[in-house]
Amino acid sequence: DLQDLAPATVFDQILAKALPSQVVFENDKVLAFRDIAPQAPVHILVIPKRRAGLTALRKASREQKGVLGEMMVAVAEIVRQENIEGGYRVIVNDGEEAGQSVHHLHMHILAGRPLAWPPG
Ligand code: 5GP
Repeated sequence: DLQDLAPATVFDQILAKALPSQVVFENDKVLAFRDIAPQAPVHILVIPKRRAGLTALRKASREQKGVLGEMMVAVAEIVRQENIEGGYRVIVNDGEEAGQSVHHLHMHILAGRPLAWPPG
């Protein structure tokens, strides 16, 4: 895939089910699974199934607004499905200083404990 020349990440292995993960939501565009190193009682990652150049949010283009919207709607569906009653936070880390470690776009959903603001 011409748009996927960046090196594969661990999320490709998760998508291929070559690496096990605790899937909480899946449709044709999006996969969501529990973070292996949870930073809150609920810590879920939402990723596009097709990375398509989205190594980071900054790479997004208008052509990708469909899948970007799907990710956001998936967050809402997951929050309802998981009965997240209190607050929650959605985070996208983009770049080294923000702590991005996997170069496949993903949204973090964090819930189940008080979340400081600003996050620091
Ligand atoms: P980032 O720091 O790039 O925003 O977030 C990457 C996240 O992926 C981290 O929170 C990290 O714990 C999670 N992660 C890395 N490797 C794996 C894995 O093999 N399985 C799962 N479920 N999560 C992973």
